[in-house]
Amino acid sequence: MNIRTRFAPSPTGFLHIGGARTALFSWAYARRHGGKFILRVEDTDVERSTVASVNAILESMKWLGIDWDEGPFFQMQRLPRYKEVAEQLIDAGHAYRCWMTREELDLLRESQVKQNLKPRYDGRWRPERAKAAGLVPPARAPVVRFRTPETGDIGWDDLVKGPISFPNQELDDLVILRADGVPTYNFGVVVDDLDMEITHVIRGDDHVNNTPRQIHIFNAIGKVLPAFAHLPMILGADGERLSKRHGAVSVTQYRDEGFLPEALLNYLARLGWSHGDSEVFPVAQLVEWFDFRHVSRSPAKFDPDKALWMNQQYIKNAGDARLAALVSPLLEAKAGPPLEKVIALLKDRANSLQHLAESARLFYVYEEPTAGKLAEALNDRTRPALQMLAQKLADTPWERKSLGAALSEVLKANGLKMPELAMPARLLITGRTQTPSLDAVLELLGRDLVLARFARHLGER
Ligand code: GLU
Repeated sequence: MNIRTRFAPSPTGFLHIGGARTALFSWAYARRHGGKFILRVEDTDVERSTVASVNAILESMKWLGIDWDEGPFFQMQRLPRYKEVAEQLIDAGHAYRCWMTREELDLLRESQVKQNLKPRYDGRWRPERAKAAGLVPPARAPVVRFRTPETGDIGWDDLVKGPISFPNQELDDLVILRADGVPTYNFGVVVDDLDMEITHVIRGDDHVNNTPRQIHIFNAIGKVLPAFAHLPMILGADGERLSKRHGAVSVTQYRDEGFLPEALLNYLARLGWSHGDSEVFPVAQLVEWFDFRHVSRSPAKFDPDKALWMNQQYIKNAGDARLAALVSPLLEAKAGPPLEKVIALLKDRANSLQHLAESARLFYVYEEPTAGKLAEALNDRTRPALQMLAQKLADTPWERKSLGAALSEVLKANGLKMPELAMPARLLITGRTQTPSLDAVLELLGRDLVLARFARHLGER
């Protein structure tokens, strides 16, 4: 079987974390089976769809490296096709034109609610009923409705959730084509999934309720059904559906907050799918392992701390040159040691590129220590030791090991412990008390700068 999957976003906002996870699983399934992955933009909600959103979605997918083989197709460019299929369905008796007005629908709904009935369209424009009731088509454009069976059940064997079925009674004759010729979601999706020869419909389980309607339409058109896989929702830590309230929810936001794409991909891969205890694995591994049996039936929880932890794992292992190129634009001042060397020193402890830039700043931006901090750091014990250190550093070979040895000698000669010397030394030469290992910092800053800063705060050498 030639596997064909698709991702079908509606361009009404950014690519949401949940959408990206759906895209990733759909893509991984196609890649796993040497199939094709199709991108289709469902832009029939004309009021809410924007070009900016289309661009954000494409950009996010490219950044994540989720590449597509066909598309992007745009539904609004396929209107004649939906009309054609709607006509075929009408001719075959599976669909019909309906002229019911909004006001009539409201009235119907009101009376149903009054009788404690579920509001639903009553099928009054089904041709045989309209005829019997003597309804005459008025002179305005009708919608097209699908004739849904009124008895029996409709179901499928979901690849994630197992068998699901709905009584047809719960489904009414849904509109498939609006009066302006734009298809509704349930119709556009079926025509497209058929035309694009989709074999596996993989999407969020918020669409489970739509699937029975779609299956009826598939059957009416008379083609083989695709398989359906409904992925569990992604919830925030509070158990509510993931939304802006939970912080960053768009892929671009994660990019802008300093995530590496492969880290976000890896984190997404673990949202609702697992492979034993594996946590950190490249996307190629996901492709090799991905299957629906290990997609969870219950919702996944989004944990921002774990996402950062994942990012840290990838930053730690990323190349210094690549990280330097990503961090460089985040630094306002760049005069100082080579950024790659600074990155090499700091990357083990950074959980985002921003965090890395923040730590790197100490090598490029000197923060003048306040008088209060200086007074605290310089006392009768530390001042002579720092002076001795400054003197020693004037002719110590400038590499980490010798610098470390010089520090040890000064500690010993003055009867101090490392923090007692390192804390004030850090303050004097970087303006901060928190830095990586002092010998490494000295090495990177260079002799001239270090001696100049010591001289500035300790007086003459
Ligand atoms: N446009 C729909 C959405 O964004 C696609 C659902 C589907 O994959 O069928 O939710």
